[in-house]
Amino acid sequence: QLTAWVNGRFLPLEQATVHIEDRGFQFADGVYEVIACFGGRFLDLKPHLERLERSCSAIDITLPRTLDELSELVEQAYQHNPFEHAMVYIQVTRGVAPRSHLAQQNMVPSLIITVRDLPMPTAEKLEHGVSAITMPDIRWKRCDIKSIALLASVIGKQEASRHGADEGFWLDGQGHVLEGCATNCFAVIDGILVTHPLDHQVLGGITRDMALRVARANAIKVEERAWKLTESGLSECLMSSTTNAVMPVCHIDGKTIGDGSPGPVAIRLRQLMLDEFEALKL
Ligand code: PLP
Repeated sequence: QLTAWVNGRFLPLEQATVHIEDRGFQFADGVYEVIACFGGRFLDLKPHLERLERSCSAIDITLPRTLDELSELVEQAYQHNPFEHAMVYIQVTRGVAPRSHLAQQNMVPSLIITVRDLPMPTAEKLEHGVSAITMPDIRWKRCDIKSIALLASVIGKQEASRHGADEGFWLDGQGHVLEGCATNCFAVIDGILVTHPLDHQVLGGITRDMALRVARANAIKVEERAWKLTESGLSECLMSSTTNAVMPVCHIDGKTIGDGSPGPVAIRLRQLMLDEFEALKL
């Protein structure tokens, strides 16, 4: 029996409902986080909650709890749903009001927390890497906010799936790879780990941060700059997310990256990240 936090209490998931005039439902007026828990240990809980606070503040919602209270609630939610490996979903919306674009002042935000089993990457994916397609970026201009308005990402994922690919990579007008539908993207170019800089076109991924930090600490050169798949010297692609750590991406738009199998930087960086959080070692 799954248990969710909704409207200030824990309830069986089936009974955990929100009002039809919640602005999250009618306007996607809200933000969210996904946090991974491995063997009962949360990975980067604090940075996730701090990002939630930043997302809220970017759209002028006051988090209904302190970060300490939220942290406690997340732990409790996990105790109610103690999967070996879990993903915790937190959503904050502006709250309930008669439908009007202009929000009322002093609304009471809705806070929900759900916990689900976290699927681990299959041995096949780890061995052969994953695949992606590229697509023109049709999203809004504030991708740095972790907004629940995810229609473009839903479309992108469907398009990727239709092509038998795992992820869709957004390209800007010049053909630079920005990020994936639910991942940050990296390339290895002339031996340097390259990823798009933080700006309004990408989400500041918590796993992106970890990957860059771990890479730097282990003498893997890092550059945050715009990059293209067509650059000479590109030997590997990777993607990062809370639910995947870093994954090698070996096929993009049906073309082989490098020799078509996970490259040395992807394999090494993944292992270094797993070592850093040793409970991830499976
Ligand atoms: N970029 C986008 C658009 C995302 O939706 C996500 C995660 O959902 C990420 C990047 C990866 O972020 P994180 O590493 O914090 O999970």
